Amino acid sequence: MENQIQEAPSETKAKPKRTRRPNKRPRNSESVKADTQVSSESKTAGNAKSKIWSIEDFQVAEAEGKMRFHDLNLPDRVIKSIAEMGFEYCSEIQAETLPMTLLGYDIIGQAQTGTGKTAAFLIAMISDFLDYPLEEKRANNFARGLIIAPTRELAIQIADEAVKLTSNCHLNVVTLVGGLSYEKQKIALETENVDILVATPGRLLDFARSRKVQLGKVECLVLDEADRMLSMGFIPDVKSIIRMTPHKETRQTMLFSATFPKDIQALAQQWTYFPKEVSVVPKEATNKNIDQVIYTVEADQKWPVLQQLIEKNGGQRTIIFANRRDETRDLYERLRKANINCAILSGEVAQDKRVKTLANFKNGTIQVLVATDVAGRGIHVDNVELVVNYSLPEDPEDYVHRIGRTGRGGETGKSVSFASEDDAFMIPEIEKVVGENIRCEYMVDTSL
Ligand code: AMP
Repeated sequence: MENQIQEAPSETKAKPKRTRRPNKRPRNSESVKADTQVSSESKTAGNAKSKIWSIEDFQVAEAEGKMRFHDLNLPDRVIKSIAEMGFEYCSEIQAETLPMTLLGYDIIGQAQTGTGKTAAFLIAMISDFLDYPLEEKRANNFARGLIIAPTRELAIQIADEAVKLTSNCHLNVVTLVGGLSYEKQKIALETENVDILVATPGRLLDFARSRKVQLGKVECLVLDEADRMLSMGFIPDVKSIIRMTPHKETRQTMLFSATFPKDIQALAQQWTYFPKEVSVVPKEATNKNIDQVIYTVEADQKWPVLQQLIEKNGGQRTIIFANRRDETRDLYERLRKANINCAILSGEVAQDKRVKTLANFKNGTIQVLVATDVAGRGIHVDNVELVVNYSLPEDPEDYVHRIGRTGRGGETGKSVSFASEDDAFMIPEIEKVVGENIRCEYMVDTSL
């Protein structure tokens, strides 16, 4: 991958902003038990002794080359949630960042969706808030942690993970995203503690400008998918938001991006304070579990070939990517007319509908999803068997994101990309990013 970021030169290293408790909680079972009387069942249970969760209940063997969450001196309430989520060992980005973020250092991280970066920044943020509880009384609309993400889907996914990771402590998560009820979000700001705020830039700016949410005491700021914020034109909004937060010397800032074009490199340096730089780039840009093929077709053959492909693969969970909203709409109509069980996921679909669509795709009620890049990015659905690029993406990096929706978690997957005379010129660029030649097959609709 191009534009990999470099390890910071040693002279730029500064002290972390917070000196974190060295071994504040010794790892002996007595203190662990005392510390973890947090679950509601354990409080109400008659025989507390047998119900209290202990770190002893979360046994993970030491393994060479792997970091366990036990090794990080995390608050037990965080460890308990990690255990409940079924995580055992840190992912690479977690192992690389947590030892530093837990000390209070800023981070510039190169990592894509699927690496575990969400838990990486959330675990650092939550642990910090538990170690440093608020000492002053303040209005509940002051955010302690702020996470900015480019898309509603991503923000909602981050908030879901934050809710799971805070399930054993009293930190509250509030989500502010466009497209969902403004009123409901306003009420949440008025009635709930905004410990962790997950937001998309536009809606957040609306609330911050009208002072319904206060950003002046943010302790920890996360900017996720910074390159995507740039390509979606959100940087001016993000700049305005960051100006409302405390100075970079007094907040902790973690910035993540899959790629580092020059603009993002400059902004990352501007927004962080003596950051530690970490890069977790997959050895192969695309997953070896994905069988990739390009069908070269005449433009007017795309639809009949697609129809055959889907009918032949009957019932497989499929995502079809197109570049524009009108293209997705057109495809959706054709699929529907062909009695294919499908739904659309693009920016023009109302947010609550998109959330429902995604849930139905996940539970198997919908077989085929027609998506644009923005809406499709960050979709975590297991067992997507087939990804179709109805048009090749304009940005070759998007090819990697698109086909990465299949072949996840060790499963095998297939991607079929249509290249017609309009977009075949993109193939070499895509192959450069993928790092290999992609098999090409010439297709015609034989039924015509
Ligand atoms: P992300 O890259 O943050 O979108 O995470 C991708 C997926 O990996 C999510 O479903 C996470 O819940 C999961 N995940 C994150 N960290 C771990 C871990 N240490 N072990 C297993 N799964 C994880």
